Formats: sequence, structure tokens, C-alpha cells
Amino acid sequence: MGILLVMVQRKKCIAANWKLNKTRTETKDFIEALRSHFGNEPLCDVLIAPSFTSIEQALRSAAEGLIHIGAQNVSEMNDGAFTGEVSVEMLQELGAHFVLIGHSERRTIFGESDERIRGKVIRAQEAKMPFILCVGETLEQREAGHTHQVIQEQIRIALEEFSEIELLRIAYEPIWAIGTGKTASPDQAQAAHKEIRELLQERFGEKANEIQLLYGGSVKPENTFALLSEPDIDGCLVGGASLDAEQFYQIIVEAEKCCQ
Ligand code: PEP
Repeated sequence: MGILLVMVQRKKCIAANWKLNKTRTETKDFIEALRSHFGNEPLCDVLIAPSFTSIEQALRSAAEGLIHIGAQNVSEMNDGAFTGEVSVEMLQELGAHFVLIGHSERRTIFGESDERIRGKVIRAQEAKMPFILCVGETLEQREAGHTHQVIQEQIRIALEEFSEIELLRIAYEPIWAIGTGKTASPDQAQAAHKEIRELLQERFGEKANEIQLLYGGSVKPENTFALLSEPDIDGCLVGGASLDAEQFYQIIVEAEKCCQ
């Protein structure tokens, strides 16, 4: 009897994390410039996470379905005395399409623990809000040979009470490669993505093959194609190079070469 091999074709996904950049006016200008390049619907998913205050403008400027707009963070609380926080319900009321959870800058600069990140995942799941869970190791952890263990632990804790996998994307972002100009080599990134895929397969079975795994860390047009040609790298999360519409568009063009 022959063995039936089912190949899952995952769409590529290019996501921008604008961090603390761009006013509403700059957001409008960027999205209009980006849209002017799109003759047809892009072959890959295009996502942008502006600051909270620019989400509404971004949604207005983005054509429905062409560019997905999300937030860079969400509270693990629903409501109450939590000054400065924004709930998942507030994001949904705005119309946000997704949220980033556990970005390394949230973890390291703002002290978000794995347990708080799990709380955010639970809120996203309850609200059926798609999210990108960010994980990654520091340089010290990599040099000590702890990369696998660190990523495994971050994912295990974040997804402890999670089951709705159609909401999930994961971004592997080695902290030593974020904003530093140092990119993980395609081999290094693929090795981490393969481990993440295997972890997800153990947890969710065959369905794990449908989850988009993104790489993040100094992605530029010049390194996009090589990274996205790896079998388990389904896209990228882009910081610095996503702030310029032309550069971000070139990253999309490179990603589309992998879709043809
Ligand atoms: C990020 O912050 O998610 C990121 C990957 O930044 P950069 O592309 O600037 O390294």
C-alpha cells in the first residue's frame, strides 16, 4: 500500500512592527505609498502593527483584505485599574486584525514575564483575536548552548492553556539580531524554526504544519529571499526596514519570489 504524503502549502507572511514610530499623518502617507505598488492582491499576507494611536488611521488607509492592521501589545487584563493598558476588546472595537504578544522589547525593557505573556495569549484566545507570539534567545543564551531550551520554555508557558491554533503565528526573533544589523544565517534560522515546528507538532499534531513561522532580526530586502527559501520560514517580522515604504515593499517583492 502506498503512503499518502500531504504537503501543506503555507502562505508567506510579511509583518511590520513599527515600534514607537509614525504619527497618524505618517501612517497615512506610508500606507498610501505602499498601496500604490499593489497592482493586484499581494501573494503573501501583509501585516502592519503601528502604535495604538495610529491603528484607526491605518485601518482607514489600508484596503480591506490587502493589508492587515494590528497592535504591538495588549493587556492581559480585561478592565479595571490598570493605567496605560489597552484591552483586547478595545482593539477589536477599533477593528484591529491581530496583535503582537511577547515581543522581546516588551520582555526585556518592560519586564513582561512568560506568565504575563500567557495571560495575553489567553485573552486573545477568548476574544478570537489572531496573534503573533514572539520568542527568541539572547546572545549569552545562544553562546551557552541554551537556544532550544529557552525557546521551548517560552512557547510551552505561553501556550499552556491554548488550543485555537488558527489564531496563532510565531515569530522567532533572536534578540542579538534585533536592530543590530546582525541577521541569523538562513541555516541558523531554519534550525530554530524546525525545532519550533517539531514542538508544535508534538503539541498540536498535523495541524501544526499550517502555522506560519516568521523570522525576525535585521531583515532587509537583500536577505529576505534566502531566509524565506528555507522550508520552515514562512515569513518575517520586520522592524527598522519596515519604516520606509519602498524598502518594505521590496521585502514583499522578495517574499513573493518564494511564492511563485
Ligand atoms: C523587531 O523588532 O521585531 C525586529 C525584527 O526589528 P529589526 O528588523 O529592526 O531587527
